[in-house]
Amino acid sequence: MEYVKGNPYFGQVNEKIKQYPYLDKNISCDLLIVGGGINGAIVNYFLSQKYDVVLVDKSRFGMAGTSCATVLLEYQLDDYAEELKKYMNEQDIINVYRMGLESINMIEQFIKENGNKCHFRKIPSFMYTNRILGVTSLKKEHEFRIKHGFESIFYTSKNNPFPFKIKAGIYNIDGGAELNPYLFAKQLIENSKNQNQLYENTEISSIIKHKNSFKVSTNFYRI
Ligand SMILES: Cc1cc2nc3c(=O)[nH]c(=O)nc-3n(C[C@H](O)[C@H](O)[C@H](O)COP(=O)(O)OP(=O)(O)OC[C@H]3O[C@@H](n4cnc5c(N)ncnc54)[C@H](O)[C@@H]3O)c2cc1C
Repeated sequence: MEYVKGNPYFGQVNEKIKQYPYLDKNISCDLLIVGGGINGAIVNYFLSQKYDVVLVDKSRFGMAGTSCATVLLEYQLDDYAEELKKYMNEQDIINVYRMGLESINMIEQFIKENGNKCHFRKIPSFMYTNRILGVTSLKKEHEFRIKHGFESIFYTSKNNPFPFKIKAGIYNIDGGAELNPYLFAKQLIENSKNQNQLYENTEISSIIKHKNSFKVSTNFYRI
């Protein structure tokens, strides 16, 4: 299925990921990662530090969904905790918020160690409403965050410091970040420990399960 057309915005940079070869021989490995978008690149970066890992992509690394995202990295979710309580217990919600903050810190740590080659920057997060009916829910969300030790500032139309109108909003100075996801994937792939086990134009066409292993077939994929 072709789900990206044209030239994705974030891939239009001078510093392209170098072209990796396609797989044209039989190989074996402990772990195979299928797809070198941002998720495959992250998993490959960490696992290749310890294990025998092969990363393949049928197209070019980082050029599919990864290059089309808006790329707002936020610790908060689209739903408020009150809504999430219908599906999860309170402790799990707190853990999800903490993992969101930790993920942003881990990316920042990677950038500190490897240089900022993907335009990473931390930005505050701000969730707001322009509807009077939304104020109570936002206030509850703010109280949930404060109760569980998350930084949160509550603004209303009375103390609104922004040059646009709000009925209410919650602000977190450390809650977000932005970056170029294509360049981030490139940096992860170029800093991984398995440089001779990275393959592009290599489509996984079938996976057969054996007793203690998998047999995977590949095709040359022309973009
Ligand atoms: C318009 C839009 C806005 C978004 N905004 C945000 C946002 O603000 N914040 C946020 O966090 N997320 C956002 N997302 C979501 C985010 O972009 C995706 O979750 C993320 O990029 C997915 O990365 P991925 O590595 O899983 O997939 P992809 O980048 O799509 O990579 C999958 C790779 O797998 C390869 N592949 C597929 N099948 C095979 C096969 N059979 N063999 C070999 N390789 C194969 C493909 O070629 C591709 O390169 C947005 C997404 C879109 C579309």
